[in-house]
Amino acid sequence: MSSSHSNSDRPWRVVVIGGGVSGLAAAFRLQELAGAANRPIDLTVCEASDALGGIVGTREIAGYRVELGADSFITNKPGAINLCRRLGLDGELIPTDARYRRSLVLSRGKPMPVPEGFQLLAPNAMWPVWRSPIFSLAGKLRLAAEYFVPAAQQPVEDESLASFVRRRFGQEALERLVQPLVGGIYTSDPEKLSLRGTMPRFLEMEAKHGSLIRALRHEARSSTTQDRTASGARYGLFATPRLGISQMVDALIARVQTSATIRLNCVVSQVTPATDGATYQLEFADGTRAPYDAVVVATPAYRAASVLRTVCPGAAGALDEIEYASTAIVVSGHRLSDVANPLDAFGLVVPAIEKRKILAVSFTSRKFPGRAPEGCVELRTFVGGAMQPELVDQSDDQILELVRRELHELLGVVWKPDFAIVARWMRSMPQYHVGHLDKIARIETDLKSQPHLGLAGNALYGVGLPDTIASGERAAERIFQG
Ligand SMILES: Cc1cc2nc3c(=O)[nH]c(=O)nc-3n(C[C@H](O)[C@H](O)[C@H](O)COP(=O)(O)OP(=O)(O)OC[C@H]3O[C@@H](n4cnc5c(N)ncnc54)[C@H](O)[C@@H]3O)c2cc1C
Repeated sequence: MSSSHSNSDRPWRVVVIGGGVSGLAAAFRLQELAGAANRPIDLTVCEASDALGGIVGTREIAGYRVELGADSFITNKPGAINLCRRLGLDGELIPTDARYRRSLVLSRGKPMPVPEGFQLLAPNAMWPVWRSPIFSLAGKLRLAAEYFVPAAQQPVEDESLASFVRRRFGQEALERLVQPLVGGIYTSDPEKLSLRGTMPRFLEMEAKHGSLIRALRHEARSSTTQDRTASGARYGLFATPRLGISQMVDALIARVQTSATIRLNCVVSQVTPATDGATYQLEFADGTRAPYDAVVVATPAYRAASVLRTVCPGAAGALDEIEYASTAIVVSGHRLSDVANPLDAFGLVVPAIEKRKILAVSFTSRKFPGRAPEGCVELRTFVGGAMQPELVDQSDDQILELVRRELHELLGVVWKPDFAIVARWMRSMPQYHVGHLDKIARIETDLKSQPHLGLAGNALYGVGLPDTIASGERAAERIFQG
């Protein structure tokens, strides 16, 4: 296979397949790299739907700022925050509201605070656990015994989150707190979720300190007061643009559009080897074809699998094995006077053992200012995920009804919303099951023979926006050097 991108008589023809955040980040990085190297580039972004952005969308409804997809990003990973800086948005980022910086967990039908300092899998201090009504005395004793649980022999096989937490902290910690906290991020079955593929830092802590509590105490001693008191998914570390996630995505689109050709409603069906001096030929669903010197595939894994089945059958096979879950979000706006619970937190997570239909409720306007009118609150209720997939297939009315019922029972919401909207994200959440990193290794091995082909997206190296953005940028850098 030959490449002609070094041919100086015409620009380097590059196509990005998929106009979600990862594809847009790849396109922007390609523009930056080509600009810095003074290399002429003919860049195209092909997006199957009628809009760029993928799983994000900020809307204004009845005076509320509504996020239909992602609503914020973690700042201790550089991807999103660096991108915002490069887009000139660093002055526009807002942190979470410190007054409400804690999470609730449903415990025997009642919302209870997550013990202070509990970081997804483990506490950084035992006294909040001793005081918490979430655990039984036996559960607390088992949690505290983690100090004395010997570290697993290294190297450990890929282990599920459930197995790891059960081994270190016991079943009660898993089902009463860790499952819902982690489920709030991955919407996954903890028996299948790969710890190494999602949160390897906890494995490193076990290997280095012998105990996670000891490791987190050590970390807490050397961190700030704010970090020490943060609970749940460390909400203090989250940020978002003042006008919502679409502010970042719209700024990204504006930059990419300055020099790239954007093709909407453009479904790529296959990448095949080219014979006419280019590297690849793209085949589109409408039957047309076009040659390119380099390609970034930034679609969900199951789409990438079919697009790549000819040029990279090994990678395509591994991509096809990555399972996905679907989720629905009901966003609703309420007068605070219609809600009995004080909502003095960022949200509520619901353990599977509580046998409820909803997974979690984010109190969006408690997290970030400017999301709801004065005296009102915006709620985002999550339904479905890997553990209750059938719920997402219900009609909007059925989903609204189950959310109405559960918000009433759990938070005392009188259902007279200013608005309520259902956003459905089908096959949107890649599942990092045990064995995920082996799949990634197979994909990387197969791609070694294709230096002009980059792969990006949330199925590979992390599900959140920062990792997704970083995956797009790395794919761009790879083909630029290719
Ligand atoms: C409900 C929900 C809430 C979330 N909340 C957060 C959050 O608060 N914070 C956070 O950090 N992350 C969050 N995430 C994760 C984050 O939003 C996603 O990981 C990220 O947006 C994925 O971007 P992507 O580019 O990988 O994929 P996508 O957004 O899925 O983009 C892929 C694009 O490829 C296009 N495409 C597919 N096939 C083809 C084809 N054959 N030809 C051309 N185009 C094609 C699709 O139409 C799509 O636009 C959330 C995810 C979900 C589902």
